[in-house]
Amino acid sequence: MNTAPTLAENLARVRERIDAAAARAGRLGDEITLVAISKTHPAERIRELHEAGVRHFGENRVQEWESKRARLPDLDAVWHMIGHVQSNKAARVVRLFDSVDSVDSLALAERLNKAKESLPAEDMEREEKGKGGEDPRQRLRVLIEVKLDPEPAKSGISEENVPRLVEALQPLPHLELRGLMGVPPYCDDPEQVRPYFQRLRELRDAVRAQMGRESLPVLSMGMSHDFEVAIEEGATEVRVGSALFGERRKA
Ligand SMILES: *Cc1c(COP(=O)(O)O)cnc(C)c1O
Repeated sequence: MNTAPTLAENLARVRERIDAAAARAGRLGDEITLVAISKTHPAERIRELHEAGVRHFGENRVQEWESKRARLPDLDAVWHMIGHVQSNKAARVVRLFDSVDSVDSLALAERLNKAKESLPAEDMEREEKGKGGEDPRQRLRVLIEVKLDPEPAKSGISEENVPRLVEALQPLPHLELRGLMGVPPYCDDPEQVRPYFQRLRELRDAVRAQMGRESLPVLSMGMSHDFEVAIEEGATEVRVGSALFGERRKA
């Protein structure tokens, strides 16, 4: 009776919730990218969810993902870094990830840009295959992480500094800034975080007014317990861990 649901069953439930939230906002569930947050879970679980159809995964620790990725060399997916990146790990990060969703300083962006420029030739060839852009050296997709949680320990750049960072990233040739990411404070009632999601969307819209309406198409916001509210407020990507993989063990 009480058997644990399979990953495929969890995925079906999450997709239903995404579709329902999107419908409430007059959008299509298909427009929303599901990024499965696989931190703390073994490589085999990633493979299982990939078989069920997920193509975006997120991890927050370089070391952990380095060891897991070695066991998944054949999987075709977009790998997102969602945790704080120390500048001295930029070279490893550009080798291990397709997107850095947590850029929070110009210094880090510059390190990533430089690291991407000096990727070894073999990595470039691997990237060229199957992705087929005109530029053989693909640009690294990045999001700016905005600090929504007033708590000092939480990561991200403060809202008022976002426009300046957006501007400063433009000349970096090996980065492609796609949008903003944010994590609101945790509240049991997801309705209480709605204003944070609204603020992130408004910030994006303000930057657009300045940079052009094609800029920053991506809003990465919403986790297992609050992604429906985030979608109603304009999320284009949701980062879902425990609703897919089950609860993480507390460290
Ligand atoms: C862990 C994590 C998630 C996923 O959290 P869940 O509550 O398990 O869905 C999303 N975003 C970030 C930045 C995370 O660190």
